[in-house]
Amino acid sequence: MDLPQLAIAALGGTVSMQARNAGEGVVPTVSGETLLASVPELTALARVNVETLGLLPSASLDFEFLLSVLSWANFQIKQGAVGVVISQGTDTLEETAALFDYLWEHDEPLVVTGAMRSAAQAGADGPANLLDACRVALAENSRLRGVQVVMNGQIHAACRVRKTDSLALQAFSSPAFGPCGMLVENTTRYLRPPAPRTVLPLPQQTTQKVAMLETSLSADTLLLENILELGYDGLVIGGFGAGHVSQSWADVIEKIAKKIPVIVATRTGSGSTAQSSYGFIGGEMDLIRKGVSMAGFLCPRKARILLWLLIGCQRQDELASFLLED
Ligand code: ASP
Repeated sequence: MDLPQLAIAALGGTVSMQARNAGEGVVPTVSGETLLASVPELTALARVNVETLGLLPSASLDFEFLLSVLSWANFQIKQGAVGVVISQGTDTLEETAALFDYLWEHDEPLVVTGAMRSAAQAGADGPANLLDACRVALAENSRLRGVQVVMNGQIHAACRVRKTDSLALQAFSSPAFGPCGMLVENTTRYLRPPAPRTVLPLPQQTTQKVAMLETSLSADTLLLENILELGYDGLVIGGFGAGHVSQSWADVIEKIAKKIPVIVATRTGSGSTAQSSYGFIGGEMDLIRKGVSMAGFLCPRKARILLWLLIGCQRQDELASFLLED
């Protein structure tokens, strides 16, 4: 029987990390080919094209590089792959998955995975996650769902997933929504039907800068006051509660929102911003009046990705419809 074609890209991260010498910390060293050798079961499931596109800690991934990874993935689909798997560090995985999801134009799935334990650590989760990710990427019922994150036996929608634990094996969750599926006896099972998606074109421009600040008790406005002068093209604020800031922040934000798009999300880690509940200065009704967009369920980090992409393809006027869709 002709096996389906699957493409895997390794970018680095803990899944690919080992200590060079005893007593040293782990660093990315393990290639995609070696990762693939840790899951011999895969040879019975697919013809695999694996490539090591980078060996980076995910904190050092950037938009330029990720757009080149995306173009590699697009090419794999054109060459006949039924799905693509990207393995990378978990620290920024929730952001890269969102970036890919906004741009992924194919019916075929793109699956992002990683590991919480490094390659040589006892109970390393890299091989199991990689095999699960491949199973999800090969599954017929993964089509039309955009980008999925597969970690620890669960499948999460790219737009919902967050890293919610720094070191635990169960580090990823989708607060307020839960996983959209799971692997049951090696079978890909979804808990919800695919949701409609709007895909953005590739950004024509990549030099735009979107700042992200978080509110905190009794915070000064020094950074905020300099956002425009520093040349930022957009601003995302992780606001208190349902999307709130202090009075002093609200005054400065009003001036900024006259010049560049400003989104306020919640810094709480779960739930949506409000629209029509709080009327105090710095509350969401006041901020909306001042020209701010509320992020809804989008966390500050994903809101920043969305705004960066929209500015990059000159579609920032459509921000409200993207946030509403969410
Ligand atoms: N701790 C990270 C990881 O889980 C390191 C990284 O993101 O590269 O992969």
